[in-house]
Amino acid sequence: MARIANVGVEVLADPHNPQLLVRVTAEDSLTGTGETWWGTYQPGAPAGMPVLPIAVLIESLLTPLCVGQPCDSVADIEALWQRMTRATLQYGHEGIVSTAISGVDIALWDLVAKRQGVPVTVLLGPVVHKSIPVYASLTWLGDADRVCADAQRALQHGIRAVKLHEANVELILDVRRRLGPEVTLMVDASARFDEHGAIDAADRLADADLAWFEEPLYPQSDHAALARVRSVAPMPIAAGENEFSLAGFKRLIASGAVDILQPEIAKFGGITPARGVGRLAGAAGIPLCPHNYSLGPSLLANIHWAMTAPAARWLEVPWLSEGGSFPCAMPMPALVDGCVLPPTAPGLGYTGR
Ligand SMILES: [Mg+2]
Repeated sequence: MARIANVGVEVLADPHNPQLLVRVTAEDSLTGTGETWWGTYQPGAPAGMPVLPIAVLIESLLTPLCVGQPCDSVADIEALWQRMTRATLQYGHEGIVSTAISGVDIALWDLVAKRQGVPVTVLLGPVVHKSIPVYASLTWLGDADRVCADAQRALQHGIRAVKLHEANVELILDVRRRLGPEVTLMVDASARFDEHGAIDAADRLADADLAWFEEPLYPQSDHAALARVRSVAPMPIAAGENEFSLAGFKRLIASGAVDILQPEIAKFGGITPARGVGRLAGAAGIPLCPHNYSLGPSLLANIHWAMTAPAARWLEVPWLSEGGSFPCAMPMPALVDGCVLPPTAPGLGYTGR
């Protein structure tokens, strides 16, 4: 039986795209690599600081809970997930606690799959998709020329759908006209509107032929308000990246606020609860489009999860402007006709630093 020797963190202190890697190492030195959510941009904070509270939580609370525990099987991972969750409950399970647990959990799945010499999909199985299309998720640009340039680069790369992070309705309509009707287009407003503003924007975007309108309003926790927006919006409403637990997804779905569910695996607890989230989406008949803004282990975790989740429809890949990069230096997954195929390498298949 292999036991855990250490759980370590590495802060990759990029000023724009910080990453927090988690490495779980067994006594025989076999190592699994995971990733937490990357924090929010904090004006004035030194590079890497947005992920530091999560790193401290892992090292101070989760590492001591994991060291010495067995790590050979899915049952071992489930036991560790329960152990970490119970021991931290009084800090408040949602927020950076579930984010920290996510990173450790993703690393554990990588480790156990590597130990068994199989892709994580085999542990989650069965694979139910031959391929899943990806969409290019642009950054906040605020300029139609730059949006169109980045979108065209994505289309030339073979990606067939583009998501804008913009809240300027005229800019979005202009981009739609310039890209033409063939491109699948999504818009993420990143909670820039109140309820009235969200309803007004959705109405004015009726001719933009959007695949979905994402997180239109603040606060994201006001599911009832989002349900009212959805009831009059002429396009599907997407949300879910700011739910931090299975219970949160149950509340969101029950509120009738979403047409598209977008869980963030690096926030809501990792691959262990992802199986339940996928079943929840399937039971509700809601397409599952995992949220992701990393090129790193969390994107790979999403790919393995989605391949085994019947409700999965789209995968999000970040599409930075020319010259942008993620510090872990993992390459973009290979695409065939704008789709990712089921992974075949053992573990998550992570190849970054
Ligand atoms: Mg979003």
